[in-house]
Amino acid sequence: MSARAKRLDPLDLYVTAIILIGGACMVWLGVDGAGGLSLLLSPEVAIFAVFALIGEFVPLKVFTRGAEGEVTTSTTFAMATMLAAGPLASFVALAGANLLADGIRRKPPKKVAFNIAQYGITIAASGLVLKATTGLPRAHEPHLVPADLIGILLAATVFFICNTGLVATVIAFAQRLSLWRYLAEDIFFQCATAGLMLGLAPVVVLAADFSLPAIALLFLPLFAVHRGGSEAIAKEHQALHDALTGLPNRELFRDRIDQAIRSSRRSGESAVVMIMDLDHFKEINDTLGHHHGDLLLQEVSRRLQATLRDSDTVARLGGDEFGVLLPRVATSQDATAVAGELLVALREPFVLEGMRLEIDASVGIALHPVHGEDVETLNQRADIAMYSAKQSGRGYAIFEPELDRHSPRRLALAGGLRSAINQSEITLYYQPKADLRSSRIVGVEALARWDHPEFGIVGPSEFVPIAEQTGLITPLTSHVLDVALRQIREWSDNGLELTIAVNLSARSFLDTHLAVEIPRLLARWDVRAEQLELEITESMLMTDPARAEATLARLSQIGLTLSVDDFGTGYSSLANLKRLPVDVIKIDKSFVMEMAVDASDAAIVRSTIDLAHNLGLRVVAEGVESEDAWRQLEALGCDYAQGYYLSRPLPADAATRLIRERGTARDATPPALRVVHGVGA
Ligand code: C2E
Ligand code: CA
Ligand code: CA
Repeated sequence: MSARAKRLDPLDLYVTAIILIGGACMVWLGVDGAGGLSLLLSPEVAIFAVFALIGEFVPLKVFTRGAEGEVTTSTTFAMATMLAAGPLASFVALAGANLLADGIRRKPPKKVAFNIAQYGITIAASGLVLKATTGLPRAHEPHLVPADLIGILLAATVFFICNTGLVATVIAFAQRLSLWRYLAEDIFFQCATAGLMLGLAPVVVLAADFSLPAIALLFLPLFAVHRGGSEAIAKEHQALHDALTGLPNRELFRDRIDQAIRSSRRSGESAVVMIMDLDHFKEINDTLGHHHGDLLLQEVSRRLQATLRDSDTVARLGGDEFGVLLPRVATSQDATAVAGELLVALREPFVLEGMRLEIDASVGIALHPVHGEDVETLNQRADIAMYSAKQSGRGYAIFEPELDRHSPRRLALAGGLRSAINQSEITLYYQPKADLRSSRIVGVEALARWDHPEFGIVGPSEFVPIAEQTGLITPLTSHVLDVALRQIREWSDNGLELTIAVNLSARSFLDTHLAVEIPRLLARWDVRAEQLELEITESMLMTDPARAEATLARLSQIGLTLSVDDFGTGYSSLANLKRLPVDVIKIDKSFVMEMAVDASDAAIVRSTIDLAHNLGLRVVAEGVESEDAWRQLEALGCDYAQGYYLSRPLPADAATRLIRERGTARDATPPALRVVHGVGA
């Protein structure tokens, strides 16, 4: 608070400046147009003023890009007043209506002053244009002639620009958005509604000239717009809210989290996601029946809402599970304080149709960005924390990485991994690697997948770390090597000569047993050592260089190809690699993917290729996703490419088809010159 107060707040500065400029405009309006004020007493102008007032109180409901909006018809009548009686009368009508409406809604004085001032500026500017281009207002009928049209259009445009610009700037300051970004998000809606509202103004004046009651007819189309808008809002509300409690549903909750993440990236504050689960709700539901269960959920949702601020979101995620989003929180203590308040609110006994019930709840908390950068991760981690809170009975818990080890999914994976390896639920996908000049496929990388009966395909980034921590990495690596070599044998038997690359995890790499097992497997499947490539990451080489050197020497003696994976992400340099018996380096996909847009990434790729070649190493670029990247790498003299552009990792049969189609390096014909987009998982 104190740090904030000392700095000059741009929002305050802006509001003060607008109030001052607005004041000056009001003085000008008063001096310039005093005469026009008496026109306010003429019946038609008086009617316009009254409608401007009504418009402030009964805004039209409209529906825009999935959000509800409101449009006030006072703009129409303020503009009509300006055409018929001049800017001062218009300002008096609009500012008076606004003052009354804001006063009744008890808006803070500063907001009211800003509103009046911005109308002062808008009407003065628009009035000036009108005065310069037409002779309006005319004291006699007809109030408008066809020649006025261009001037009216110009004045309406100026009205729109001033009004939208002044208001958008204040919102952008308050929400810490960039003005352009805010305008870009909203500009079509703004233009469309302003066009409708301002465009109607001359029609109103003409209708009044024609006959005063005719103005009433204009309300028919406006009413139609309003009805359409209200219906769309109701439909959308249904789709995004829970019918029982009226709270946002899971979909809207995720959407709000997404918005909060974006604005917290800009503001630097944290967004907090909480998942709350009622303890023993199922028993209440079963013993007392659904009716009481429903009443309880409704009352719970009321209490949660009452405890939170308007800017927070509480959602019903299903059953007895609720989600809470606090879009702006300074510290994790603030988050736990709110969680504590929510629990206190729920511990107060519930009285439902004379029945007294006590319940308790468990809350899991995850903070953006420390616990996750995206909606999915934040939800998952809040869920993990909730599970831990439930188990410990402590009410609430903040996510910690340690908890992840005990999440239900992780526990299930860890529990099932051993039998998955034995029963061949762990399969291999193959991603081809091609020679950049000939486009022919020279080899594949074997990438492990767990075809899990409950979770579907689980990726290696999730289960390889589990295998390492649970001592299952040795059997996993053996299994992968076995399947990979069997596949190479099968391809050889079918005339496809390829190499296969297998990833080694840190534990496997340092496992001395590997140097015994690999020759055994090579013999078993009758595969030559040169056909097997082992991928070792840079960091594995650098943590214990002496040991790594000895291990590499043993593996290289077998005649295997050794490659350094994810090159560029660690701290090693190519100079360090000089001493080691490695043959290939794979430039990490992050550099390759950014190469086209980031000059420094392009420079890293270029110099890595040159240096590697000077050391006699071959270079693979991974993450080649586009034809441009392919061509760029070809021009840089890179040897091989791997990535989605050539193909995604594919199951064995699909990989076989692709390899046949493209041809391998050994084939004389057909030439594979064209690279097309890869398909598959
Ligand atoms: P990695 O060795 O860097 O493997 C490349 C990863 O990048 C693969 O993810 C692959 O699907 C993905 N990829 C390939 N081309 C592109 C592209 O053009 N664009 C993008 N964005 N990504 C691309 P995957 O299969 O999920 O593997 C993740 C990591 O898991 C691998 O990274 C590897 O380190 C490890 N891994 C995979 N299989 C095994 C295994 O059998 N044993 C061990 N120890 N680790 C494995
Ligand atoms: Ca790899
Ligand atoms: Ca890699």
